[in-house]
Amino acid sequence: MTVEKSKELYERACSVMPGGVNSPVRSGKAVGSIPVFVSSASGAYIWDEDGNRYVDYVCSWGPLILGHAHPAVVSAIKDVAERGTSYGIPTKLEVDMAEQVVKMVPSVEMVRFVNSGTEATMSALRLARAVTGRKKIVKFGGCYHGHSDCLLVSSGSGVVTLGIPGSPGVPEEIVTHTVSLPYNNLSAVEKVFDEMGKEIAAVIVEPVAGNMGVVPPEKGFLEGLRNLCDRWSALLIFDEVITGFRLSPGGAQRYYNVMPDITCLGKIIGGGLPVGAYGGRSEIMREVAPSGKVYQAGTLSGNPLAMAAGLATLKILETPGFYEDLEKKSAYLEKGLREAVSDAGVEMVLQRVGSMGCGFFRSGAVKNFEDAIKSDTNAYALFWRGMLENGIYLAPSQFEAFFVSSAHSYEDLDRTIDAARKVLKNMRG
Ligand code: PLP
Repeated sequence: MTVEKSKELYERACSVMPGGVNSPVRSGKAVGSIPVFVSSASGAYIWDEDGNRYVDYVCSWGPLILGHAHPAVVSAIKDVAERGTSYGIPTKLEVDMAEQVVKMVPSVEMVRFVNSGTEATMSALRLARAVTGRKKIVKFGGCYHGHSDCLLVSSGSGVVTLGIPGSPGVPEEIVTHTVSLPYNNLSAVEKVFDEMGKEIAAVIVEPVAGNMGVVPPEKGFLEGLRNLCDRWSALLIFDEVITGFRLSPGGAQRYYNVMPDITCLGKIIGGGLPVGAYGGRSEIMREVAPSGKVYQAGTLSGNPLAMAAGLATLKILETPGFYEDLEKKSAYLEKGLREAVSDAGVEMVLQRVGSMGCGFFRSGAVKNFEDAIKSDTNAYALFWRGMLENGIYLAPSQFEAFFVSSAHSYEDLDRTIDAARKVLKNMRG
């Protein structure tokens, strides 16, 4: 396999973009590789600039639950593009899309569209602080909620992948109101509420953590957060930027049947275009400007291309049996990988919820960030490079998820399992 064109592009990229990329984890640094530069994609596949084809499990970091360039999504985008790409004036599409989200996500009665997951969580926090009149935010180590200042504390995703402790440029004063606690540790949350419950505006959580690898909530964790928030009149924010529309048509809140006060959405909701959203009960959402005083705005928010791509995607997700099929495929992949791991005799723990999963190179279940960072990242790097050589594109970091889409065929899954079997055996030597 040659990647000469990717190498050339990477060199050019590095002289004009920091690290040669527009988002840190794409760089390949953590797996000792250069990034491959993609030229096109279709269904479950991506092709790089050198013409190599890969089965893709990054799926644009989650949005592409239907795979790449799904015909219905492409057609919706084309149709809108011919009538103008942005107006900054309301459209019917925004209303249709908002109604669709309200219909699908159980706790959402009203929604505001933004342009990214970062904007969604940042705006949700402002709203929660305004509504409660309190300052403190509780988050969990290894959860990533985007790159806004007050949430870049003990963060997952690229922050942990590249070993950055928070970020320079974030003043201490800004993060003094952010309390970071271990994921899945309800007694730690209880203790903090006992100490400062009346100052806590909100608890923000990834209902399934997907940015320290994949870590499911332990039984009772989400319910416990709900109860504590109720007891102390704090708001519960579910960051469903990954899990929204991935785990069920109603996201993790429907999957686990725990309802947050505010939900943050992103990724799938844009069908591969830049969209985020936050929503919740009407009485809370009405506080957002212009009906309320909490200011938040966006030149391109509710952009017609993004609304069209999102709406086309969400409509397909309502097809009966969609999530059952996806679960079957994901379980098939997990089973095959488990067998490959056990046959090769390597230490790898597979964790999966629905169509998101990951393999930690360590023994024993991963329940929180402390556990996750004890994984052997060198082994993951070796595994990643081997899989790439065999035409399988995984996230270039131990601390990210793989995503199965409806476009992945059983043949693709078999190819992936075979590749894993081969690579893991070689790693064992
Ligand atoms: N929240 C979660 C759970 C995420 O996984 C991400 C991004 O990966 C974000 C928020 C930030 O979203 P964006 O990258 O669209 O700003």
